[in-house]
Amino acid sequence: MNLTQPTTLDDGPRIAIVSGASRGIGRAIAERLAADGLAVVVNYAGQAEGAAQTVAAISARGGRALAVQADVGNAGDVERLFACTQSHFGRVDVVVNSAGIMPIAPIADDSLDAFDRVIATNLRGTFLMMAAAARHLGNGGRFIALSSSVLAKNFPGYGPYIASKAGVEGLVRVFANELRGRNITVNAIAPGPVATELFLSGKSEGQIAQIVGQAPLERLGQPDDIAAAVSFLAGADGAWVNAQVLRVNGGFA
Ligand code: NDP
Repeated sequence: MNLTQPTTLDDGPRIAIVSGASRGIGRAIAERLAADGLAVVVNYAGQAEGAAQTVAAISARGGRALAVQADVGNAGDVERLFACTQSHFGRVDVVVNSAGIMPIAPIADDSLDAFDRVIATNLRGTFLMMAAAARHLGNGGRFIALSSSVLAKNFPGYGPYIASKAGVEGLVRVFANELRGRNITVNAIAPGPVATELFLSGKSEGQIAQIVGQAPLERLGQPDDIAAAVSFLAGADGAWVNAQVLRVNGGFA
């Protein structure tokens, strides 16, 4: 144990895996980390075209990126995602698990399918990404999970989603403790409403305005707002932030 030295990042180009980076917040995170100088593995589930666009945007600015399909809820897929990263880039420094779904479903008998799907992607996916990260992250590594500020709202219909993200926040604190001694930080970012398909789809303009108006800053979050916070946690200035849930939401509390 070193009681006096600040944590430092390993030398050399750093490598990030960003899950769910074919669109939305994950894409903004991938592009931001690439702008910060990291090579990025752009994970996606089904939208190969979206992932290719993320890779193209990074390459156009001189960055390095690789698209890899994998379902974060599938153990074999997650192992392949990390193995591809190692074989292509040789190391893993930052893992951001942004892949997520948000089916709205009241707690009732016919909601079990939605519950199982959201737990499989959001919670089991986070668990599997953490397990692989524990095996692959090196000194100075960073794991960043995505939770949600909607946890505090208890909106009807959000039961399965809130259950999954409450689980994610629990895993973050335990995982940080389990990585003791390895100079790896584990945190979550909990966005408020952000202008992506996940938030916008199925809502009327009135519903969106009503939700957005709850933040004192009175605007809808943008994917880049979240990517900026990830950049901080993944970079040198975030080194002393560990086992935290950072609520990035314009005051939507
Ligand atoms: P989007 O719906 O815009 O994008 C979701 C992304 O996740 C896509 O790239 C999708 O891939 C990927 N994905 C979905 N399921 C899987 C899976 N099983 N394996 C791998 N990738 C998967 O969502 P957002 O960008 O808005 O959300 C990103 C994260 O932020 C989520 O965890 C969400 O819960 C969280 N969040 C979002 C908020 C918001 O208001 N938008 C607020 C709070 C939290 P593909 O397209 O290839 O299928």
